[in-house]
Amino acid sequence: MLLITSPRYEEHVTPPGHPERMERAHVFDAVAARWLEKGGRTTAPRSATPDELARVHAPEYLERVAATGGRAVMLDADTFTSPESYEIALLAAGAAVQAAEHAVDHQEPAFALVRPPGHHAERDRAMGFCLYNNVAIAAAAARARGVERVAVVDIDVHHGNGTQWMFYDDPSVLYVSTHQHPFYPGTGAADEVGNGEGAGFTVNVPLEAGSGDADYDLVYRAAVVPVLDRFAPQLLLVSAGFDAHERDPLASMRVTTDGYASVIRHLVGVAARHGGIALVTEGGYELTALAACLEATLAEVDGAAPGIPDALGEFGAGAPVSSRGHRALQAVRDAQAPYWRGI
Ligand SMILES: [Zn+2]
Repeated sequence: MLLITSPRYEEHVTPPGHPERMERAHVFDAVAARWLEKGGRTTAPRSATPDELARVHAPEYLERVAATGGRAVMLDADTFTSPESYEIALLAAGAAVQAAEHAVDHQEPAFALVRPPGHHAERDRAMGFCLYNNVAIAAAAARARGVERVAVVDIDVHHGNGTQWMFYDDPSVLYVSTHQHPFYPGTGAADEVGNGEGAGFTVNVPLEAGSGDADYDLVYRAAVVPVLDRFAPQLLLVSAGFDAHERDPLASMRVTTDGYASVIRHLVGVAARHGGIALVTEGGYELTALAACLEATLAEVDGAAPGIPDALGEFGAGAPVSSRGHRALQAVRDAQAPYWRGI
């Protein structure tokens, strides 16, 4: 497994009190340092190229972001640049592409620890702390490299509106998201399933506030993994946001570090059956939870995880599947029945 990150990710500076702050980059640095100590490999990111960006973003928008170079600009109600942000955002998108290419070319997992995050960025606008849609740029790069079926699984607590809309009509890129709903950014209802040729290739799993490990395990086991196995992605990209963690200050979920490890374990299992896996960070705003989830993810993907119980209900003892999990699963089944029979 290859880790792709850089100390330069601290150079994207957000206003005081902003949750997507430079200290998140220091967590990446610490995780990378421990990874190296344990004999792991890391590499520095490159900048995304104009062609790579243009596969998912509009030319006018790319000009607008480029024009923020050297300046502090407010792009959206909660999305800001500092003088270095343009350059650092290019390194975030580039790292995501590198991770995807590494997974495809070497059949070895890769994990890009980057900021700013990407999944709210739309074709023509910045949104929700995101400048470029890193994971979407990586998915498009994999498609351009000849990968026929790419799945993006978004485990961030927020719905990845940008990624969803970019591939909404495209059956070659399956977008699957588990997220708090209703919540920012407002999209991600179960009946948003894709359009035209892409119908059925967007799978939203909206979970109510308060959902925990067992609820997540239920929807992954009963819906997300079966759909992924049917789709058989040659590349599985993970929008790796850790803000569904119980300690996260922005959202209201109760997922523990072990719960996140279990989600990653499900996805690693899918990749082992069908192709490669590459992960790209998104949110995660409580720094100790972020560090713990990154470490747990590395251990799961690298195959070095301590035995985390695999059977439903064995972890999160005392926290059985709640009505939230059952309601989410039913909503997905109702919406996706025409496309994924038997889930
Ligand atoms: Zn998020």
